[in-house]
Amino acid sequence: MALCNGCGQQSTRIRTTMTDDRGRLLPEDQRKEICQHCAPEQFSEPCDPFARYIEESQARPYLYDTLPDGSKRLKESPTADVWAEMTRDQDEEALQRAIEHKRRTRRTAPLSQTEIEQADAAWRDYFREMKAEEERVLDADKLATENIVLKYVRESEIERGKTKTYLT
Ligand SMILES: [Zn+2]
Repeated sequence: MALCNGCGQQSTRIRTTMTDDRGRLLPEDQRKEICQHCAPEQFSEPCDPFARYIEESQARPYLYDTLPDGSKRLKESPTADVWAEMTRDQDEEALQRAIEHKRRTRRTAPLSQTEIEQADAAWRDYFREMKAEEERVLDADKLATENIVLKYVRESEIERGKTKTYLT
């Protein structure tokens, strides 16, 4: 609760006018206050700031052009430059630069015999090792699967043996 300086009553909601008509800050003792008691019509709506939200293009229409599809675009202005800079997609630009660079510098001639031999010497051992590793993993998996199957077979045999013993 606070005291309204307009009517002197206690109120939960008070609206204070801080500035004069020209937007200059008023001294504290000259600020006007209203509350639900002295200006109920000002407080009839629930206070929802988002209900009063408007687009930048509505607030400052002189900064915007309307496109044929009805959307708004910032006019040529320092603000537009700043906005363009803020919304610039640097990843996309880097990608386009990389694509451009690749187009300019990509190799189109086939490998020479020497280059083929060099590449073969550099990579053959690596791929042989990779293949061997792959086979080791596959063998290990196979062994694990076989062990699981064997375990179940053995268990089911024991189970059947028990059942038979029980039935006879
Ligand atoms: Zn009041």
